[in-house]
Amino acid sequence: MTKMFILASMMAMIPMTMSVTALADSASDNPLLAEFDTPFNAPPFDRIETDHYRPAFDNAMAKQLAEVTAIVENNEPPDFANTIERLERTGQMLSRVSGVFFNLTSAHTNDELQALAKEINPRLAKHRDDIYLNEELFARVKAVYAARDRLDLTPEQQKLLDETYRGFVRGGANLEGEKRARFREINEELSLLSTQFGENLLKEMNAIALLIDEQDDLAGLPESVRDSAAATAAAQGHEGKWGFTLQRTSWTPFLQFSKRRDLREKLYRAYTNLGNNNNEQDNKALAARMAALRVERAELLGYETHAHYVLEENMAETPDRVYELVDKLWKAALVRAKAERDALQAMVKQEGGDFQLAPWDWWYYSEKVRKAKYDFDEQTVKPYLELDRVLQAAFDVAGKLWGVQFAPRDDVPVYHPDVRAFDVKDNDGAHLALFYIDFFTRESKRGGAWMNNYREQWQEGGRDIRPIVVNVCNYSKPAEGEPALLSLDEAKTLFHEFGHALHGMLAKGTYASLSGTNVPRDFVEFPSQMLENWALAPEVLPTYARHHETGEPIPQELVDKLQEANKFNQGFATTEYLAASLLDMDWHTLKDKSPKDPLAFEAAVAERIGLIPEITFRYRTPYFAHIFAGGYSSGYYSYVWSEVLDADGFQAFKEKGLFDKAVARSFRENILEAGATQPPMELYKRFRGAEPGIEPLLERRGLQVQDSE
Ligand SMILES: [Zn+2]
Repeated sequence: MTKMFILASMMAMIPMTMSVTALADSASDNPLLAEFDTPFNAPPFDRIETDHYRPAFDNAMAKQLAEVTAIVENNEPPDFANTIERLERTGQMLSRVSGVFFNLTSAHTNDELQALAKEINPRLAKHRDDIYLNEELFARVKAVYAARDRLDLTPEQQKLLDETYRGFVRGGANLEGEKRARFREINEELSLLSTQFGENLLKEMNAIALLIDEQDDLAGLPESVRDSAAATAAAQGHEGKWGFTLQRTSWTPFLQFSKRRDLREKLYRAYTNLGNNNNEQDNKALAARMAALRVERAELLGYETHAHYVLEENMAETPDRVYELVDKLWKAALVRAKAERDALQAMVKQEGGDFQLAPWDWWYYSEKVRKAKYDFDEQTVKPYLELDRVLQAAFDVAGKLWGVQFAPRDDVPVYHPDVRAFDVKDNDGAHLALFYIDFFTRESKRGGAWMNNYREQWQEGGRDIRPIVVNVCNYSKPAEGEPALLSLDEAKTLFHEFGHALHGMLAKGTYASLSGTNVPRDFVEFPSQMLENWALAPEVLPTYARHHETGEPIPQELVDKLQEANKFNQGFATTEYLAASLLDMDWHTLKDKSPKDPLAFEAAVAERIGLIPEITFRYRTPYFAHIFAGGYSSGYYSYVWSEVLDADGFQAFKEKGLFDKAVARSFRENILEAGATQPPMELYKRFRGAEPGIEPLLERRGLQVQDSE
């Protein structure tokens, strides 16, 4: 829909005040402010213009504040319905406007939308503060919460009450005077430090860390690696040379393939000293300061540690439970990593090397093992993985499990010609959701793959509002008339995002904030990773993986190799990941506010857990962006936590059959439909009959202790 860009740029020529006034005078002309009169009340993308957003946000925020004021001004004593439930129902117009705006700023953006997002984001933050720091409103919420045992609420209502109250408390509503002021100061400083940490890192990562000007120094590097290194060098003004940066996609291939041990060491040392060069970009003091501020904030709010503060909202609930899981996996991973190390050391010897394996040798020698044991070229797999067949396979899996059907609709407006819309129907034909897919990469889209909602699911006044869900990926678009072919990873990604989509589409909650994928971070990847299991299952893969020209199914030998390769180098991968998880947990279970020396702190952690010198934390403190520049403090463990769930959860299907109706129904009712209406461990136990065990994951990663090389 190039029309959108044309309209947007025309609008840019009109003085801003003029267009705003014009729109404000006739709010009914703004399609974002009216009910969407389209099939399934889908956003009328063909009528929305960039200049509609600002007045729509103004209007929608004002409307929510008025709704909140009405709750506060109610003369009736506060109760669940007139306070908690009504608060939950406020801001529906804001959700509608945000739903369209933030989906498009990710999937189909332009400079104007980006500029607008910069303006809107701080305003939304202030808007949230205006609600969560409204003292009269909190007084009502608190009164209902105090009476919670006498209210005879359903478990879902209880959950909404708990979460609402907790949201206020975590936002500092219970603090008074100086403590409240200090709380806001800490949040502001943390937010600045975290931005600074990320910016420092980006600068260091994008700079060339190894510049090569002699062809000989490229020994061992494949053509494609040389080509992109040449492009990197040229882009930074070094025509005719080869440059490697500290971005993972740049340094990893060098460490995998370079025959020059001295240069591998140089690049490896540069990477592991990111943010640790005593220059302007040094992150050590920032990390130490952030850890100390987090201790102070937790103390202010009455939590034992920062990790307690974070984990209370997660499935794990407490630091003890995280340590318990990670410690168990750690032991198994370390045994395996040591066996892998010994095998690599043997290889060094065998090749006549007279040195002890160092961290910068690991990628190089493990690549040789991989090639010898599991060698297959991605190019031999791709012809079997045609995008439309993979998509159909995902639809078929949902059909066989739950009777869900997908009917294409071309009468629904879309925001780009590559987007396809489907009416998703339940086994009885009832409408479940509107589902968009947007698969091809383009300049207006950010990288990665994700699922999102344009509209959440909820129930109100006897009506079931069904959701609008999108899956966005970045697959290369084929030339006209050519099939779109995927790598195995891309096919898995399709199933992964489809799993998130099902979690959103099958939602069956009363309240939007507890419905669909609005679940804790260490639980949200469970449904998506579950679906990946079907993508690779020997019962499923050969049914859709057929050669796009000959129609031949993928050879079994290739399938076996693909499956086996999953276990390759898992001792290393699991160890470096778990070490970083433990580093994260140790930083955030501190109780004392005095700033630490990050390097000494790290060394003590390595010592405590018995990390072997050939492996480093996947992220060292000065470049651990997940926990110091992103939202993962005390949360880096959640990737493996979700994996424990999906490995153990899929066992239920393995035991009874991949398409067993009863297991499928239980998974649907207890997980996919349930959202956050109950605590996640409760839901999991209802599905599986017990808490998850780690054995299926150990087996999948080839980490059982008895399993030796
Ligand atoms: Zn995911």
